Amino acid sequence: MLTSADEAFMRHAMELAARGQYAAAPNPLVGCVIVSEDGTVIGEGWHRAHGAGHAEAEAYASVSKADRDLLARSTWYVTLEPCNHVGKTPACAGLIEQVAPKRVVIGLMDPNPRVKGGGMLRLQQAGIEVESGCLEDALRFQNRRFLWNMEQSRPWVVLKWAESADGFMDGRSEADRVPGSGGFAITGAEAQRLTHHWRALETGIAVGAQTALIDEPKLTVRLVDAASPAVVLLDPSGLITEALPTMQDREAVIHVSADPGQSIGSVHCAWDIGEDLDKLLASLYTDHELSSILVEGGATVLNAFLHADCWNEIKRWTAPRDLHSGLKAPVLPASCGRMPQGEASRGTEGPDTWEHFLHPRHVFE
Ligand SMILES: [Zn+2]
Repeated sequence: MLTSADEAFMRHAMELAARGQYAAAPNPLVGCVIVSEDGTVIGEGWHRAHGAGHAEAEAYASVSKADRDLLARSTWYVTLEPCNHVGKTPACAGLIEQVAPKRVVIGLMDPNPRVKGGGMLRLQQAGIEVESGCLEDALRFQNRRFLWNMEQSRPWVVLKWAESADGFMDGRSEADRVPGSGGFAITGAEAQRLTHHWRALETGIAVGAQTALIDEPKLTVRLVDAASPAVVLLDPSGLITEALPTMQDREAVIHVSADPGQSIGSVHCAWDIGEDLDKLLASLYTDHELSSILVEGGATVLNAFLHADCWNEIKRWTAPRDLHSGLKAPVLPASCGRMPQGEASRGTEGPDTWEHFLHPRHVFE
């Protein structure tokens, strides 16, 4: 039976898991807490980065020599079912089997076809008491990108834009929006850090060719301690014909266009204007290993994702001033959901307000 103490330790493991938010993808966020029989935490670990040690192994390694003999009667709290396959690291179910603690509490079962109950079964067969489903809804929400990847083989898609109080993204006239004219700032400097955090959470940042040429966005994450996501240049009409100065320092630029011969990115992704967005998303996931993308514009690109219903979250800034004319911002879908599990759906940074919405298909409570 799961107790409130179990939930408290699992909550702690979930907080540890969140520390991998910028680097674990495409792997899930996983945390692990080892608790001795008298209720003392003797080990903690989390999956820091793709390719790094798994949470269980990290937690085991953190147990001090003096506490080793407490392991036999310990309880392990793991936010995700321990893996039972040998990948980049040895199987965690095998490690736990060797240590043979008294009890293992699992948050979420792993939908990965290579695990899917196999990890739990192995522990049970070793005579360890196992319980699952502790804080399951909260953990499904924390790992929503990973679960979507496993179910759909598509990246999790976050749409992001900034608009004025009267609903414009850019106050310039069409004639003034020419290549090289630079970005049109809607939000103030205070909004930047959160925007960089939002970028760092996803593995790719997508922008349309027009936006890349006119606004010349740098799409950096320099205000947070994270690696830069890949840039996805959406250019089905082949507007970009030479390397963009703002993208020169980027390790990964995925140029999405119909003609592989004119690719200016480090990688080319073939996609034609007449093909549907879902095909592009399938390719970005399968061929380019993007488990999530932040779509930053412009309006045409954002509207295409909205109309094709190819999105999972929306993050929107609203500035207090009116622009009266210019480029219309996308219209928020009527059925947008608020964020569940106690996560804030709205806040302010300086004069600007941000809102965070979830596609109504996603229910986490
Ligand atoms: Zn593992």
